[in-house]
Amino acid sequence: MPANKKLLILPGDGIGPEVMAQTRRVIEWMARRRMVSFDISEDLVGGAAIDARGTPITDETMQAAKDTDAILFGSVGGPKWDKLGFDMRPEIAILRLRKELDLFANLRPATVLDPLVDASTLKPEVVRGLDLMIVRESTGGVYFGTPRGVETLPDGQQRGFDTESYTTSEIERVARVGFELARKRGKRVTSVEKANVMQSGLFWRQTVTALHARDYADVQLSHMYADNCAMQLVRNPRQFDVIVTSNIFGDLLSDLASMLTGSLGMLPSATLGAVQPNGKRHALYEPIHGSAPDIAGKGVANPLAQMLSFAMLLRYSFDMEEDARLIETAATAVLAKGLRTADLASPGATPVGTVAMGDALLAELDRVAG
Ligand code: NAD
Repeated sequence: MPANKKLLILPGDGIGPEVMAQTRRVIEWMARRRMVSFDISEDLVGGAAIDARGTPITDETMQAAKDTDAILFGSVGGPKWDKLGFDMRPEIAILRLRKELDLFANLRPATVLDPLVDASTLKPEVVRGLDLMIVRESTGGVYFGTPRGVETLPDGQQRGFDTESYTTSEIERVARVGFELARKRGKRVTSVEKANVMQSGLFWRQTVTALHARDYADVQLSHMYADNCAMQLVRNPRQFDVIVTSNIFGDLLSDLASMLTGSLGMLPSATLGAVQPNGKRHALYEPIHGSAPDIAGKGVANPLAQMLSFAMLLRYSFDMEEDARLIETAATAVLAKGLRTADLASPGATPVGTVAMGDALLAELDRVAG
């Protein structure tokens, strides 16, 4: 079986290498049991790259990232590197990857697996079965818009300002990602902005409406103000299928949505670039948690978010829906058996470690694959 799927693995710092080691076992299982092999390369990134090479990500690693089909990223950062100047911080690695690969669509699923329904701070009847996807524009908007700065006014006061701005193509390309995703899910998109008080919000709404009429009439489109969306996510989150929104609103709403599910150690994400002329698109997959320096090296980190990020990679970069589902089903089955890492364990329960969770996941993979 030729290994024609190129995969770049960047474990990073802290718990990154620990959870990635367990995910490597899942990748090996895929090769053994599903005859899916990858052409894998692995490299240093973040603090590990600073220590070894004096930079958070080398140009060679950047080139490998541009040449690969998909990137599986761990997490970067930690107190050891906190005092370095801004340009030398481990987080520069991820910023550089996002910028140079133009990864403009950040996908954050918020899924409540049945065995974890009690981990949410919301009532089980509100979150049971929750399965929504937030698509956040991630390279534009007010975090990047110009002019920005702090100026001194004639009366001696100072004024700080940023600019929210979106072009037609910036809105259309991220909305397209949302519509395409919805076609494979519940066929519903909610576009979120503040069209009532922001010109750029009104423009966002008009642009999404026109694109919908032109190319995606088979998908149901609704519009919602961002403040209402925040309220609705807590009141009745199951009303949503796919939410598409700007950088700043997506930043807030996706963090809010992640907490509906109860644990940081469970949540994967994807960031996608544009489809290139050769039909491929840059894509980076990573858990939403960081390097968790407080538990690094202790063997207690939950590896499931990293494994579920690999499941997303199979689904979105290689169209391997069945294999992605195998991993997700196995993760649910492990949790249904009562196995919990420390982040999920209820008080008084005995948690399992990272490797034991990996063992259990592989055993369930064997079982569900038959
Ligand atoms: P964090 O996500 O690393 O940790 C927050 C809390 O959640 C900690 O108590 C941690 O122990 C726990 N936690 C996180 N993941 C877990 C897992 N898989 N299993 C069990 N428990 C888990 O966030 P933080 O503490 O704010 O940041 C730590 C470092 O990570 C910082 O240097 C930050 O800059 C970096 N960071 C990196 C990324 C990234 O690489 N994309 C994202 C977020 C934070």
